[in-house]
Amino acid sequence: MGVVQFEKGAAVGTNGGPPAGEIIRSYAPASGELLGEVPVMSQNEIFAVVERARKAQAAWGVLPVAERCERLLRLRDAIVEHAEELVETITRECGKPRHEALAHEVTIIADLLTHYCRRAPDVLAPRPIDLHLFKHRKSYVHYTPRGVVGVISPWNYPFSIPMGDVVFALITGSAAVLKPSEVTPLTALKAKSIYNGTGLPEDLFAVVTGLGAAGQALIDAGVDKLVFTGGVETGRRVAAACGARLIPCVMELGGKAPLIACADADLERTARAIVYGGFSNAGQACISVERVYAHKDVHAQLVARVKELVGELRVGDPSKDYVDVGAIIFPKQIEIAERHIEDALAKGAELVTGGKKRPGPGQFFEPTVLANCTHEMTVMTEEIFGPIVPFAKVESNEEALSLANASHLGLNAYVFTRDTAKGRALAERIEAGSVVLNDVLVNYGATDAPFGGIKQSGYGRVHGDDALRDMAESRHVNYNRFAGPERDPLWYPYTGKSLGWMMRGVRFLFAGNGIIQRLGKLI
Ligand code: NDP
Repeated sequence: MGVVQFEKGAAVGTNGGPPAGEIIRSYAPASGELLGEVPVMSQNEIFAVVERARKAQAAWGVLPVAERCERLLRLRDAIVEHAEELVETITRECGKPRHEALAHEVTIIADLLTHYCRRAPDVLAPRPIDLHLFKHRKSYVHYTPRGVVGVISPWNYPFSIPMGDVVFALITGSAAVLKPSEVTPLTALKAKSIYNGTGLPEDLFAVVTGLGAAGQALIDAGVDKLVFTGGVETGRRVAAACGARLIPCVMELGGKAPLIACADADLERTARAIVYGGFSNAGQACISVERVYAHKDVHAQLVARVKELVGELRVGDPSKDYVDVGAIIFPKQIEIAERHIEDALAKGAELVTGGKKRPGPGQFFEPTVLANCTHEMTVMTEEIFGPIVPFAKVESNEEALSLANASHLGLNAYVFTRDTAKGRALAERIEAGSVVLNDVLVNYGATDAPFGGIKQSGYGRVHGDDALRDMAESRHVNYNRFAGPERDPLWYPYTGKSLGWMMRGVRFLFAGNGIIQRLGKLI
């Protein structure tokens, strides 16, 4: 078996790469330490995993929802029991602080399992439809398993993002096969080993490792649904591959979350929220605060307070110390941050604080704040995915709104104001899948609410009742209330008389609202 000698992230988003039989090494981004090795699985190996998952699903999918949920609570218990190990793995492999690994990853899945294992039997119960026209018939929708759900996930939340999809797949009676990012495979394998200890059918949830080609192989294996989370460009390729096979897919893609700070915002809370929302996970979150539009009346104070707060942040290896901001996943992300800063400064931005890579070992970048930013600069228009918060001063909320909407992305957005009614009115006009007032990042943890993007941030939703139903196949059954006559009036033979009655029927049903007027149409 050969060893793939490539820098973490060098092959991210690419198809092909090292041939099957090679191995991928996972290094800690905060120290450079080798954490483990995983195989690059071949297409045939991945096909075999999907086939085994399909067999396991056949027995799982026929169980009543309540029974599946009862069994899945064992997974919740195991995750909580192994929370410390999980946090350790995530912290070391991803380079994020333990607080974030616990709050944004482990807790979210423990809560999702607890909430939806209780709620799913109701959400997935057959739903009657009161037919408005065919009163002599009845309808209902019922929810059946898809089969095998493929999950392709990124490195930034290597546990909570894929496991939310896996749990929804299992609740709805499907099997799940996860292809994690090549950069964080050990977290996925840790989740799988915890799962294996629960006594749940082993092949029902599987992990396949490899590069982009492994994700393509998962699609080629003919999964029945795919949930993809990743960048816009990879998303286009994955959606096209799903389209070629007509595999239904959910696309959770990039974000460029704007934060609008109104003149009446609580400045201390807004400043702290900007710092937390901009630098949590070192800014490597799809819902990070990626641009701030601050009203001219509060702009200077806000920038000054954010600068002070950023000065208090401790950056370093989160597996060794209590730090606030951890590592950058791989060198490419640092280069992207440097390019954004260089471009912004060349076009007139002010460097308020930060701006530089920190010396190794490990990959760190100073939490950076830029002011005087405009939409001429890439930092305001392209996804940063790093620890940079750019500020723009605006004259009015309307200007902020129009700039917030001047983006090809629309995942999350934030509004800070003391006037909730005004904030809600603004929120409803922002082009984003979710808008949060006076808080940041919180909506991903509210797993009963839908999460997902509009515009090029993707389509479909994860979390929430509708996403759970959508993870299943919805099927419609229509049946008669009473034994019918031999022949329905709409059936053959077509005659002049029957057409006349149909015409009168159409007029009766649809001409005007008054019953007298409509009865007149029957004559
Ligand atoms: P990528 O798009 O590079 O990769 C995502 C996943 O797709 C990885 O597992 C990757 O494998 C796999 N992949 C790559 N090429 C292919 C292919 N041709 N066919 C199938 N699968 C493939 O994203 P990153 O991992 O770099 O994650 C960062 C991006 O994810 C950001 O843009 C961020 O905004 C977005 N994101 C969106 C979220 C949302 O909910 N909307 C949440 C979190 C992140 P490999 O790593 O082996 O290349």
